[in-house]
Amino acid sequence: MSLPETAPSLADIRSARDATAGLALRTPLITAPSLSALAGREVLLKLESLQPIGAFKLRGAINAVSRLDHEQKRRGIGCCSTGNHGRAVAYAAARAGIRATICLSALVPDAKVRAIQLLGAEVKRIGNSQDAAQAEIDRLVRSDGLTDIPPFDHPHVIAGQGTIALELLDDRPDLSAIIVPLSGGGLISGIAIAAKALKPDIRIIGVSMDRGAAMHESLMAGRPVDVTEVPSLADSLGGGIGLANRWTFPICRALVDETILVGEEEIYRGMQALFGDQKLVTEGAAAVGPAALIAGKLKLNGPAAMIISGHNVDPDQFLAIAGGQPVKIGDQVIRG
Ligand SMILES: *Cc1c(COP(=O)(O)O)cnc(C)c1O
Repeated sequence: MSLPETAPSLADIRSARDATAGLALRTPLITAPSLSALAGREVLLKLESLQPIGAFKLRGAINAVSRLDHEQKRRGIGCCSTGNHGRAVAYAAARAGIRATICLSALVPDAKVRAIQLLGAEVKRIGNSQDAAQAEIDRLVRSDGLTDIPPFDHPHVIAGQGTIALELLDDRPDLSAIIVPLSGGGLISGIAIAAKALKPDIRIIGVSMDRGAAMHESLMAGRPVDVTEVPSLADSLGGGIGLANRWTFPICRALVDETILVGEEEIYRGMQALFGDQKLVTEGAAAVGPAALIAGKLKLNGPAAMIISGHNVDPDQFLAIAGGQPVKIGDQVIRG
């Protein structure tokens, strides 16, 4: 199966590395002795949780901002993400000295709003749903010429996330697999394009939570499908891939070798293991790779890297999990 003509190439990803150098951190790749013992193969962790906003998403946002022309920069950028993408857009704008407007629904908790304001962005509270926030961004695009930076389905965003694979294969050319948390698929698409261009036989494995796994369901259906969003410890993996998806769906269909689903208890154990073994604070989305391995759902045949994608977790939730206490997600109680 072929890639869309406008999909980023290895050259685009190399150029994204130049554009993000000095702004995104070149993150460390560390060995995980306990996970390696469990796998019978060397397991390495790529610590994207150490990025300035606590997640990899600034790679894509910085690259997208670097491609704007003078007029687009003058008019500013925006998005309506409550999570790591919103922070990434705010951070990238501040570093480039341009204006960012983040539209959030009135339901978004104040702590998340403050985190985005602290990065220097203007926050607009609009309506009571994500749809209302998106409608406001669409209006600003039309009226003020603002550029909406999408969270995953855009070639410049995908190329930025792909810089992770360049670092991985520079550090460890012998990697046999890369295990990637999977939601909209910007992260895994960029990684897959770069890694397979450099090393065609490397395996690219996506891991999602077992309820509301939009890309997994879409790959099974052979076309982008809607999923019902269910509260999860891996909240950064929620949401759809867009029924009008242009890039990440075809790229995943062509280049992702396998998708694995993990349950809430498994994600809980993944977070607990990363803290217990490595003293790493991670959010649920970042722990799905370790979760799949611990659950016996991941078979490795050589050295493998797991993307530890972020650490933006509610402190009370994290402390409960680290201490082995039950946590409540929606109306579900999760125990390890
Ligand atoms: C956004 C995000 C993901 C998933 O990335 P996609 O490009 O949407 O697949 C994984 N982990 C964290 C922490 C994220 O913020």
